[in-house]
Amino acid sequence: MSNCIFCKIIARELQSKIVYEDDICMAFDDVNPQAPVHVLIVPREHIPTLNDLTGNHKEMLGHLCMVVNKVAEIKKIKERGFRVAINCNPAGGQMVYHLHVHVMGGRQMTWPPG
Ligand code: 5GP
Ligand code: ZN
Repeated sequence: MSNCIFCKIIARELQSKIVYEDDICMAFDDVNPQAPVHVLIVPREHIPTLNDLTGNHKEMLGHLCMVVNKVAEIKKIKERGFRVAINCNPAGGQMVYHLHVHVMGGRQMTWPPG
């Protein structure tokens, strides 16, 4: 998608602080972190929202969960704990319409989130 900010980051047309990458996804620091650690895990495929997933995406989703573990380890928040979130559509607080997983940690998370 030519006007998608995360597609541009994946294509390295825009700069980001890459934490991890493989052939399926890229993980980079959020530009406006809401916690000391705030990483976004983004599939290379442009999928707008969680609602657009199909059965063909099952393996990719499982992979993203494994990458959550990897990112938590790299950022040294694995044992203490962390928050994982996917926002969907306006009421879910989604701002960028390219599916992404938030991994947040390094502070005590509260519940319910805002
Ligand atoms: P959403 O609200 O869609 O779930 O989250 C979008 C996230 O992307 C926000 O946390 C926002 O700070 C982050 N973000 C928006 N633009 C950029 C950017 O250009 N670079 C990076 N690294 N993060 C971005
Ligand atoms: Zn995209």
